[in-house]
Amino acid sequence: MTNPADERCPERSALSTELAKSVREVYMQKRAYDAVKAKEQDKVESWNVLQAAGHSQLAAEQAFNDHITEHGCKT
Ligand SMILES: [Zn+2]
Repeated sequence: MTNPADERCPERSALSTELAKSVREVYMQKRAYDAVKAKEQDKVESWNVLQAAGHSQLAAEQAFNDHITEHGCKT
């Protein structure tokens, strides 16, 4: 019998990839927002995109942590 903790969990790996992507997205949108702000252009749309990216990141973190709590996988 195989212990799930001894194997690489594909689901965890997928969630981890999603999380990393969402972190990069927040970083990119933050830079885009800063650029818009510096040029004193309309910030609202850029701000909304940044907020949405932030929410996506939180959701990805939550999904990742929930999976670990429920599944108990280590890698
Ligand atoms: Zn897992």
